[in-house]
Amino acid sequence: MLAHDAVIKNVYLDTYGQAPLTCPTCERTKHANLAPHKDRHIPLKIKCPCGAIFVIIVDTRKYYRKGTQLPGKFIKLRSEIAGSMVVENVSATGLGFRTKLKYDLHEGDMLEVCFTLDKGQCAEICRTVTVKHTDDYYVGVEYVHTRDVDADLGHYLLPD
Ligand SMILES: [Zn+2]
Repeated sequence: MLAHDAVIKNVYLDTYGQAPLTCPTCERTKHANLAPHKDRHIPLKIKCPCGAIFVIIVDTRKYYRKGTQLPGKFIKLRSEIAGSMVVENVSATGLGFRTKLKYDLHEGDMLEVCFTLDKGQCAEICRTVTVKHTDDYYVGVEYVHTRDVDADLGHYLLPD
């Protein structure tokens, strides 16, 4: 049974399966490893050192997706197609970008994308991706190697 006044929050995992948990009473934040709970969709009771108890639900249907405006380039593998793009959102599993021109891109196409982060060291991130959907000038892709944890990207994705 949950206390009737329990604060229930959805939390998102980062690339490492961690999520920041903020106590609603004392506002202390702790990064907890929630990977073992990731597919369970059941509320977890968290006890803060201050004595407060709060409840979270690990939401992994969607990884945290960060809205961005990052300039980049893409190349369609085994083709002459290449162009510039603006990355509009990034998550631990993929990203979405918009192009200025319309390119011949379809679900299943393999691309190489490179874009520059706008925080910290402004690292350049390059990934091989698969096109998941296209909508005029917008292209949604998934990383081919989601297990390649990239420290720069992982850090960038920590919720502000
Ligand atoms: Zn607390």
